[in-house]
Amino acid sequence: MPAIKCVGILTSGGDAPGMNAAIRAVTRAAIFNKIRVKGIYRGYKGMITDEIEEFHTQNVSNIIQRGGTILKTARCAEFKTPEGRKQAYDKLKEHGVDSLVVIGGDGSLSGARVFAEEYNLPIVGLPGTIDNDLYGTDVTIGYDTALNTIMECVDKIRDTATSHERLFFIEVMGRDAGFLALNGAIASGAEAAIIPEISLEKDQLAEMIETGFRKSKNSSIVLVAESDVTGGAMGVAERVKKEYPQFDVRVSILGHLQRGGSPTAQDRILATRMGIAAIDALLDGQRNVMIGIQKDEIVNVPFSKAIKNDKPINKDLLRALCISSI
Ligand code: ADP
Repeated sequence: MPAIKCVGILTSGGDAPGMNAAIRAVTRAAIFNKIRVKGIYRGYKGMITDEIEEFHTQNVSNIIQRGGTILKTARCAEFKTPEGRKQAYDKLKEHGVDSLVVIGGDGSLSGARVFAEEYNLPIVGLPGTIDNDLYGTDVTIGYDTALNTIMECVDKIRDTATSHERLFFIEVMGRDAGFLALNGAIASGAEAAIIPEISLEKDQLAEMIETGFRKSKNSSIVLVAESDVTGGAMGVAERVKKEYPQFDVRVSILGHLQRGGSPTAQDRILATRMGIAAIDALLDGQRNVMIGIQKDEIVNVPFSKAIKNDKPINKDLLRALCISSI
């Protein structure tokens, strides 16, 4: 297998805090190993539109603490077509790029998998998503920061919820995963969480109300994961208004503020370790793998496993929320 000489880096799909720390680590690990680096702007789109620039160590100075991504991110419909991917590959060749590190979520890594198979190009993925929904890694880059943001927001909403003795449904992100909602509920002392993984099994709202979730409390906070399966916070609140009109209900949708902010120490360290591991993996001849972390050990997870494979919710967390919120 030919040695890697020039690696391209891109961030794609939904942005996540810690992506900059990952870009920094990949760049510096490559330069440390005498590999050239090309920053590709706006995800897969930047390959097609030729937004590719040589990166040196100073390109990634002073970014570890910044949220978002200096490489920008985008969604790119053309890359889903063979013609779009051919254009992308031709541009990479023009720039001498012979390997790629893709930082993104499930969709971005699905694109990487297709591209790597079509062009026999070594690609390593880093799990960059606040949703924590990639299989084969205990956590993803950005998840811890988003969780802390949710906790801070819920703490503030609780002040007003308590004053008015209201029932608040707070919607958090997660796409079709309940990690942010469940762990956000535990961390903020919420009374319950409504998550897609459980909504299919039982009526969480009915159970919550029937078990007298309010008991001695004069306000309640319930975190709802955004998802068609849960109906989102609006859907749940509509049901309560119809079926349990005795409650004074309010909805708060946290939205995009969950993606922003300076990454936590945990996300910066995770992104740094994973970024270095991506270059190690390429040097080791690995391809079509996502870097993951399991029990604090870096692992390589084949794309085929990491993508479209449901990551299970730890039942111990459901128990922790039930017990701690009585
Ligand atoms: P995320 O990475 O946050 O899950 P998306 O699902 O929006 O984000 O995917 C980001 C981009 O990855 C898409 O806009 C597209 O360019 C590319 N992509 C996603 N799925 C595929 C696929 N099956 N084939 C090729 N490219 C894809």
